[in-house]
Amino acid sequence: MRETNFLVENNARHVWHPMAHPAEMQANPPRIVHAAEGVEITDVHGKRVLDAVGGLWNVNLGYSCEPVKAAIRDQLDDLPYYSAFRGTTTSPLIELSYELAEWFKEDGLVRSFFTSGGSDSVETALRLARQYHKINGQPERTKFVSLKKGYHGTHFGGASVNGNANFRRNYEPLLPGVIHLAAPYAYRNPFNTSDPAEIAQAIARQFEDEVAFQGADTIAAFIMEPVLGSGGVIVPHETFMPLIREICDRHGILMIADEVICAFGRTGAWTGSRGWGVKPDLMCTAKAITNGYFPFGAVMISEKVASVFENNKSPFGSIGHGYTYSGHPVGAAAALATLRETTRLNVAANAAARGTELLEGLKGLQAKYELIGDVRGLGLMAALELVSDRAKKTPAGKEAVATVYEATYEAGVIVRTSGANVIISPPLVITAADVQRIVSALDAGF
Ligand code: PLP
Repeated sequence: MRETNFLVENNARHVWHPMAHPAEMQANPPRIVHAAEGVEITDVHGKRVLDAVGGLWNVNLGYSCEPVKAAIRDQLDDLPYYSAFRGTTTSPLIELSYELAEWFKEDGLVRSFFTSGGSDSVETALRLARQYHKINGQPERTKFVSLKKGYHGTHFGGASVNGNANFRRNYEPLLPGVIHLAAPYAYRNPFNTSDPAEIAQAIARQFEDEVAFQGADTIAAFIMEPVLGSGGVIVPHETFMPLIREICDRHGILMIADEVICAFGRTGAWTGSRGWGVKPDLMCTAKAITNGYFPFGAVMISEKVASVFENNKSPFGSIGHGYTYSGHPVGAAAALATLRETTRLNVAANAAARGTELLEGLKGLQAKYELIGDVRGLGLMAALELVSDRAKKTPAGKEAVATVYEATYEAGVIVRTSGANVIISPPLVITAADVQRIVSALDAGF
């Protein structure tokens, strides 16, 4: 490795970072991560910290997952690449689809369409939803409904259904025909209540109103995260997703679960949808599907959608969509090994148990520090929302948030900040002692 000064200077000079202002790189250079082991990362200065971000909500099994590393190495030796476009396929891809169908059986998802990441998965699901209706003789069903504060990646389709202005405004105009409903956000919402069940009902009514106003026969799909991750870990009431599912069913609208973060155990259930007792028509996955070791994703497809695509003579029947890296054999091998390890280690149960401890610890911090306005989470995804005035719920300023971030790092734990939120999403294999370490470091950080 080159010396640290070279890396810092040339990062500032040559690298544009996602979700960052290029001009800030000189004044506020990113930490250079050099190595990782277990659930810890080490920076170029040799400081080792617990990774309470889990890479980027994706390294669910930690950094020392040998079976996944070995699968990648072996696949690179056997067949480093071949395409899955019509005419060819590869054995890891077939084996993976077979095991995914078993794994997602309880969600009613029977086919896979592979992608190279979360944004690709969202784009794929949106396109398949429109195509489904075209094949079905309802080509006018083109609109999408989504939630404010939802995050669905950065392609134009995903950005269009995103519910955060920061990811939209610089790139408008986006897709027309997208309707955003309120977020199921108990701490701040337009309904004058903090009762999550009432909020769920209020948003369901909004949805019904919009369906009546737009015309059900113009709406292709509703897309939502079972727990809104990047928008600040917004956990809806348990009735919310089932209410939305029921409205979708009554009006012939497809339901897309964006489980790029939630799938594979993060919420304490194997999928976020399963945790809420809902079977989506399409499910977007990525991130933890390869434990973050290889860019990969899959859209899981229900029997209902699959049968329309597989039994028609429609001129719209062929899938005119796909990526060079759809089903990359190295990614497929990584996913297969990850899936087996994820199951063997029963990480969903650990996420549920450790998540309860984490939330309790964070609530303890809230009782201690005025700066913490709200604490929320499910499984191993949690957020602290910082405020400068608790009564008025004034969002904390950038500096206050940065101070907590830096001090927590100094105390041995890296967290992520997004606006006024401190977000915690550690690997799902953390121990009770790791949870205590996260809470203690935050305690030192406030
Ligand atoms: N959907 C959700 C719910 C996400 O959280 C993300 C990324 O964080 C995406 C889509 C986009 O995934 P990617 O960054 O892999 O393109």
